[in-house]
Amino acid sequence: MYRKGKLYFRYGTMGSAKTALLLTTAYNFEERHMDYMCMKPVVDTRESSNVIRSRIGIERECRWIYANTNLYELARELYKEKGRLVDWFLIDEAQFLTAAQVDQLSRVVDDFGSNVICYGLRTDFKTNLFEGSRRLFEIADTIDEIKSTCNCGHKTIVNARIDSDGNIVEEGAQVEIGGDDRYVAVCRRCWRRKRIEQAARTALPLELEEADI
Ligand SMILES: [Zn+2]
Repeated sequence: MYRKGKLYFRYGTMGSAKTALLLTTAYNFEERHMDYMCMKPVVDTRESSNVIRSRIGIERECRWIYANTNLYELARELYKEKGRLVDWFLIDEAQFLTAAQVDQLSRVVDDFGSNVICYGLRTDFKTNLFEGSRRLFEIADTIDEIKSTCNCGHKTIVNARIDSDGNIVEEGAQVEIGGDDRYVAVCRRCWRRKRIEQAARTALPLELEEADI
């Protein structure tokens, strides 16, 4: 039997309920007795349990994806294990997949006819694409934006990293372990305005010094 699957990318900013949507989809699959599996790239190996958890309080067990996990091989092993193909793979934090892993997922879709839905961020705190997201934009069959709203009413675009004083941070590693509370999703206008305000604040003492001279 010929099966036709699709590779989906559903992207949004932090706090756009991507994980809640994934878990809702999993719940709907269960109700309809559909076969699915949740997976997630592991960034923090100190995490104790294999679960995808949403802030609204629901969770599902998931299989961890390591940087060296070959997802095509994994799908093949699962087939051998279960004796049938997994119909739906639901992947959280897909921005952390490597480009090679996204390619492997596309082959799972094309060779096995499974469906793969990837949920993830578009860009990092410097507004640059993540590796996994870039590859998904390049080759996914279906791309949907999960929208959320900035305090000002515009659509959120930027995952701004903030320090303990609430200032926007623009330097540092792309991924910082365990710092989810250090991000705030804002629109592009607010991101720019806040950085201009910050620059003006820090420049002020210098200007005063010059005026003194
Ligand atoms: Zn805004």
